[in-house]
Amino acid sequence: MLGSDLAIGVDVGGTNITAGVVNAQARILSRCTVQSHSGRPPDEVIQAVIEAIAAALAGADLTLGAVSGIGLGFAGHVNGARGLVLTSSNLPAWNRHPLRDILQERLAAPVRLENDANCACWAEYRFGAGKGSRAMCYVTFSTGFGAGIVIDGKLYTGATGTAGEIGHTVVDPDGPLCTCGKRGCVMAYACGMAISRMACERLESGERTLLHDLCGSTPSHVSGEVVAEAARQGDAVAKEIMTIAGHYFGIGLSTIVQVLNPDCIVIGGGLMQAGDLVMEPAMQALNANIHPVLVDSTRIVSSTLGEDAGLIGAGALVREAWVW
Ligand SMILES: [Zn+2]
Repeated sequence: MLGSDLAIGVDVGGTNITAGVVNAQARILSRCTVQSHSGRPPDEVIQAVIEAIAAALAGADLTLGAVSGIGLGFAGHVNGARGLVLTSSNLPAWNRHPLRDILQERLAAPVRLENDANCACWAEYRFGAGKGSRAMCYVTFSTGFGAGIVIDGKLYTGATGTAGEIGHTVVDPDGPLCTCGKRGCVMAYACGMAISRMACERLESGERTLLHDLCGSTPSHVSGEVVAEAARQGDAVAKEIMTIAGHYFGIGLSTIVQVLNPDCIVIGGGLMQAGDLVMEPAMQALNANIHPVLVDSTRIVSSTLGEDAGLIGAGALVREAWVW
């Protein structure tokens, strides 16, 4: 229903797809989470999104006609204005994929497509920790490492929609391979996937570490959470990996401060649960790489909407198309 204060928000992340019915006050009336998106072909992801939307609507006892539209936050380079996924995790099937138009046709309802970090950014700006900021940046530190930018009350997405992709700025051209195909992106060190890769390399090299006990016989499945847990228990290898990830996260933050001069950076994402294990080295790297005058003018705060930010922002963007 056009003009309804309800919308569907969908968060298509690297790990899960979550759909929810969201109202104009950012309250989630119902939600449904389905299997992971990572590595799957577009038709399977689209089918999973449609099923998640149907389940979320059923959970609130609604039909699609009761909402004003569907907002979709997608992990990858996205051109929101044209409704295209440009790239996702080096998977060629997503290159220039017309995700918005396909979903619109399948669902016969308006769909708004945006990058997932941009959605979370909008939610934190409208309803969360970034309220009242003039130049705000939201940074997600989780499976991946991305950011969204709000300037003067509008989401800044750039010429083709990919502004804020801080994770793919190259800090070491000879560094490890990133999911985007380049080498030494900051995200090749600072995100959940990078932590897993570093942990696997250390396990395979036969180093003595608690990770052997925590991962059992499947070291290829070692997650950021497991490495954080080992570090908390005092494991030196795990601590070192978390320090590297935190350090490069701080390098990423320093680039944001240097380029954007934001008054506020809101940090969200699952890896924030690791607390000081990553934030101590991150703040050290930030302070070491930026002039104190610039750091002092930036308020750095934790997300208040947590894991719901992406979904809430995607829903809110259906009604509030305030993009530069
Ligand atoms: Zn990259």
